[in-house]
Amino acid sequence: MITIKTPEQIELLRKAGKIVGDTHNYLKQFIKPGITTKELNRLAEEFILNSDATPSFKGLYGFPAGCCISVNEEVVHGIPGNRRLKEGDIVSIDIGACYHGFHGDSAWTYPVGNISHPKARLLRDTEQALMEGLSVIKNGAHVGDIGYAVEKYATEHRLGVVKELVGHGVGSSVHEEPDVPNYGKKGTGPELKTGMVIAVEPMLNLGTADVYMLDDDWTVITADDKPSAHFEHTVLVLDDGYEILTKR
Ligand code: MG
Ligand code: MG
Repeated sequence: MITIKTPEQIELLRKAGKIVGDTHNYLKQFIKPGITTKELNRLAEEFILNSDATPSFKGLYGFPAGCCISVNEEVVHGIPGNRRLKEGDIVSIDIGACYHGFHGDSAWTYPVGNISHPKARLLRDTEQALMEGLSVIKNGAHVGDIGYAVEKYATEHRLGVVKELVGHGVGSSVHEEPDVPNYGKKGTGPELKTGMVIAVEPMLNLGTADVYMLDDDWTVITADDKPSAHFEHTVLVLDDGYEILTKR
C-alpha cells in the first residue's frame, strides 16, 4: 500500500531526514586515506544515537551494521570492516536513521583524496542523474517519469544503470511501496500524490550495468570490476514539486 503522510508524520520524516543529512555532513571530515570502513560506520552510528535516533539498517533483513559502506566496484550493501580507504578510492555511504518511528534514507559517494578523471565524472554524473530524477516529481507525475529521466541522463553519459536494485517509499518502514526503479517509461507506474515520501537512488556504473553478489550474501559488485556510484535522497512529493528531506 502506498501511504499519504499526515502533517505530523511529515514532521517526523523531516526530522529523521535531517539527522541523516547531518550524519553525512559529520562523516565527510573523516573520509581520508587510512580510515577503515568499520571506523566510519562507528562514527555514523554514534552520531545517529546522539541525535535521539537509531540506525535504520542495523539488523534490517539481518544486516550486521548501521551503514552500508561500498568501495569502488562495490555497488551497494558493503559491510563495514577492516578495509582501509586508499587515495584514489571512491566510497559510497548509505545511511538510514529512525526518529520516533519514522525513517530517512540517503546515500552519497565520496572521493578519497585525489581521484581519477573517470571516477570524478562518474560521481558528478550520478549526482546529476539523481537531480534529473527528482526534477520530474510533483503531484500527478508517475513513478515511471523518474526512472525515464534517470535512465535517459545515464545513457547519454554512457553509464550503466543498475536495474536489480531500486528506490522505494519511505515512512514508518524504511522500505515501503512503491518501488522506484532507475529506468522506465513516462506516464507509467503508480501516480505520485502530494504527501507521499519516496527515496530516489540511482546506482550507476562506469562500465557494464551487470552486477552480482559476493559470497557474504550482501555486497553487490559490478560484473566488470569497474567503479560504481550511488546517490540517494528521501523526498516529499508536493503539489508542484518536491522537498528534499535528507539535505545537508
Ligand atoms: Mg539508502
Ligand atoms: Mg534507499
